[in-house]
Amino acid sequence: MRLLQKHLCAIAMSLWAVSAGYAAPLVQPTLHIKPDASGSGRVALTLDACGGKTDTRILSALVENGIPATIFVTGIWLKRNADAVAIMLAHPDLFELENHGGRHVPAVDTPQKIYGIRSAGSADAVLAEVESGAAALAGTGEPAPKWFRGATAEYSPSAIAMIRKLGFKVAGFSINGDGGSLLGARETARRIAAAKDGDVIIAHINQPTHAAGEGVVQGLLALKQKGLTFVRLDDVDDVGDDGTTD
Ligand SMILES: [Zn+2]
Repeated sequence: MRLLQKHLCAIAMSLWAVSAGYAAPLVQPTLHIKPDASGSGRVALTLDACGGKTDTRILSALVENGIPATIFVTGIWLKRNADAVAIMLAHPDLFELENHGGRHVPAVDTPQKIYGIRSAGSADAVLAEVESGAAALAGTGEPAPKWFRGATAEYSPSAIAMIRKLGFKVAGFSINGDGGSLLGARETARRIAAAKDGDVIIAHINQPTHAAGEGVVQGLLALKQKGLTFVRLDDVDDVGDDGTTD
C-alpha cells in the first residue's frame, strides 16, 4: 500500500512538472538605455502601432518638436496607414521603424490568452509572426529592423530565444507610459514626465480617440522642457534583462 502511494505521488509530481513546463511563466522584460551621466539625461521613446489608425496628435508633436522615436509597427498597421508611414519615411532623422509582428499576436509559443489576445501558440507561429513583421517592413524600403517587440510585450522564455536566433533584439521598456493606451491624459502625462536618464518609455501611436494620446504629448513636452534629450534604440547601447539584448 505504501509502495502504491509512493508510486501515485511520483506520477502526480511528474504530471505537475509537465503542466508547469507547458505553461512556463511569461516574462515582461525590462529595457534601459545607457545613461548619459554627463548631460541632463536622455530617454528613449518607443511607440507601438499595433493596428487601427494613427494618433496624429502624437505624430505631429514629434515632427514639430524634433523628438526622435522608435516606432514598432505591425504588418496590419502598415497596410492601413500609408499617410503616416510616408511622414515617418520623410523624417529618417526622427523615426526608426522596428518590428511589432505581422498580425499582432503575442510571441508566446504555448496556446493561451494574454490580456484577452490569443497567443501565437506554437514555435512555428511565433517565427511566422516575427518574420512576417520584418517582411512587411522590408516592403516600405526602410532599413531592415533590428528590434522586435511582441504584442502585449509578454513572452515565453523559449520564444525570446527563438527571436534572438533570428537576429533580433527584444525590446522591453522601463516606463509603461500609457497603460496600453487605456490611461487618462493626466496619469499618462505624469508617468512620462517622470522618466529619468536611461529610461525606455512605451506608449501607443495607434489610438487617436483615446485620452492617453493627449497625455503622451504633454509628458514628452515636459521632458523636453526639463532638458532631457531623446534617442532611438539603435542610437545608443541598450541593456535588457531575460536575455533580450546580450
Ligand atoms: Zn501592440
